[in-house]
Amino acid sequence: MAGKRLVFSIISIGIVLAVWSFKSSSEHYPPTDKTHPNIFIIGIDALRPDHLRFRDSNNHFTPNINQFIQRSYLYDKTYTPQGRTYVAWMSILTGQYPINHGARFNLAPPELINKQLPLIRELKARGYKTTYSIDERRFNQIDNEYGFDQVIGPKIGAADAIIANIGDIPLINLFLKFDVSESLFPYLYMNRAYGKAYDPQLFNRKVTDSLSTKQPNFLAVHFCQLHWPFTSKDFIDVNSVKWKGNYNHFMYQAMLTKVDLQFQQFINTLKDKGFLDNALVYLISDHGEGFMLKEDTLLGNQPKDEVKFNVNAWGHGTNVLSQEQANVLMAYRRFNQQVETAKQFQGVYSLIDIVPSLFEELGLSLQPTDKKFDGQFLPKDISQVMQQSVFVESSLPIKSINASFIDEAKVLSETMSKYEIRQNGRAVLVPSIYMEMIAKKQRSIYFQHWQLAMLPDYSDLILVDTQQKRWYSLETYKGDAPWKQMLRDLCAHYRDDKGFDSHNKCP
Ligand SMILES: [Zn+2]
Repeated sequence: MAGKRLVFSIISIGIVLAVWSFKSSSEHYPPTDKTHPNIFIIGIDALRPDHLRFRDSNNHFTPNINQFIQRSYLYDKTYTPQGRTYVAWMSILTGQYPINHGARFNLAPPELINKQLPLIRELKARGYKTTYSIDERRFNQIDNEYGFDQVIGPKIGAADAIIANIGDIPLINLFLKFDVSESLFPYLYMNRAYGKAYDPQLFNRKVTDSLSTKQPNFLAVHFCQLHWPFTSKDFIDVNSVKWKGNYNHFMYQAMLTKVDLQFQQFINTLKDKGFLDNALVYLISDHGEGFMLKEDTLLGNQPKDEVKFNVNAWGHGTNVLSQEQANVLMAYRRFNQQVETAKQFQGVYSLIDIVPSLFEELGLSLQPTDKKFDGQFLPKDISQVMQQSVFVESSLPIKSINASFIDEAKVLSETMSKYEIRQNGRAVLVPSIYMEMIAKKQRSIYFQHWQLAMLPDYSDLILVDTQQKRWYSLETYKGDAPWKQMLRDLCAHYRDDKGFDSHNKCP
């Protein structure tokens, strides 16, 4: 009898929670003020442009994203300043390179970072509601201190990495569906890193329900389904992907379809509620992902075994020579302009170009005390060809944490001594070690289809022809690449980094 009552109570609680959880507004919000468009920067973690249709018509993983791009301005050769989520987002939001905003690693000591975001300050002054939202926070520390009106996503903390590991108990998985679990399990709730329980639609709804129906919105949202551990609470459609013996790449391709559905559901909701009327949208990825695919290997003039550096790599941010890690998606779309086919722009671009372009489009201006943008205005006219160079640096290559193939025990033993746990429960790099780690970075510059790279543990400079996917040792290079100017620019950009140019290559 007591058992029955207990079952009945659990069912009742379940029903109450379900009703509570699924209440959702379907209010339509047509903007009346056309001078203040809604602004959306939609990030998709680790999305490789070469897995999309505009690069290869055989790619069928992301029909919805492909369709969106089809009606966008596309900046094809766009690079992330660094292939790490937090560093990339800081670069996007400041319009500056890491050397200027101060975030050189994901878990950078917060006191070394400039958290003033002129974009957010100026938008708030114009009456915008500003929101940052992300479904995986282990490696991303952006919070209310960066000036956002609201931040949506799992709580940050050293604890969530640990809890996500041990929290795989069926009861908790079930409860995560309901809003009440936000207070019971703050670290697991909506956390993409906890793959088996993560619900993309719940996260979408949390974000879209939070948008203002009275003020214009600025929303930066980042979807992390493509990030390791490549798992899903739903079944993976294994028939859509061919098995070629590479588990991570196989799962990645299967997850592309999942994140594509999440993206489309999100866009549909924005559209249905009227948030897209007159909106401007940037669709980007923060970095690519290395899977050691044969076609990603850079070719050289020596047998592969004799090459003293990696010409292919796992993960992201681990190797500046890995083009598939640094090349990202950047597409811009203005609603409700009619773009029938994608406009593809020549030249190289960086994610730091977004904010300066927003300032120009919205007529915002920096204050005299603000640092200048490193980024440039993105062209909107296809006849304009930008002749800028852009910079890409690595994170610290740590053997066991190449972000794709994580052996947690190894990562802990290799890296734990580099971190300290602060009073607020967050793990950050020890500041003294942080400066040492900056010296060990790989650094590079892109210009046209060339990349010039400086690796601290290799004595020569490396020149990469990104079209031919070939590398050259500069000492033996005889071609006409504009490497002298590239080297001058690279040296000027990084000259204040402690330990930079240890082989005295700068003129
Ligand atoms: Zn990322």
